[in-house]
Amino acid sequence: MTLNRADLITICNEAIMEGKDICVEITIPGQQDTEFIINLNDSIQNKLDYYCKAYDTDLVHSMNNQIKIINVKKINFSNKPNINKQEKNDKEITCWMCNKQFYINDYTERKYGELGLPYVNCCYCNEEVYIEDEEGLKINEKNLEFPKHFFKFGNGVEISEQQTENWAREALEYLMKNPDAEFTHLGSGDTVVIGLQYKDEIDIIVGKKYFEFTYDKEE
Ligand SMILES: [Zn+2]
Repeated sequence: MTLNRADLITICNEAIMEGKDICVEITIPGQQDTEFIINLNDSIQNKLDYYCKAYDTDLVHSMNNQIKIINVKKINFSNKPNINKQEKNDKEITCWMCNKQFYINDYTERKYGELGLPYVNCCYCNEEVYIEDEEGLKINEKNLEFPKHFFKFGNGVEISEQQTENWAREALEYLMKNPDAEFTHLGSGDTVVIGLQYKDEIDIIVGKKYFEFTYDKEE
């Protein structure tokens, strides 16, 4: 069945509604291979208006009958999450920030943030929304990035100077009493206290609003 203008309009309108892009296949004079033109979702309407003006109802170019649109397909070239549900394997995502819903599928590009966990940007507010039931990216010594893959202990409870001092004393006492212990650490909220034992000295490090990355050796 050959494609006509009505089919082209139908497919383009569907693509606009579904948040998809389109790929238009046309014949080229003096060339065996056809050419594929990709129009992104935002420009489909504009291009459709042009196709309707420049091509007749059988989709033959009005200035050159060797140029003909022979096929048009909905594609997800820009890899954007979809606002409208379309495919069976689409997954519904609810944005924790704006509370709106959108859909992603296997072709939607994942980004990897804290601890290598996968997320997509919300279609509406662009906030990072983590995908809960998918495996993350395995982060190792070659692909670890700061601060991207780190968890920031900066939004936690603010720990008082008194509490921090108590932990520092506790860490020092522990390492003084246990000369074979190589290190100790205490902390909560936005604070960590790390004690390191060397041959001739003990270092007490206090970190406020610090970053941490955890590598799981089991995997
Ligand atoms: Zn949002």
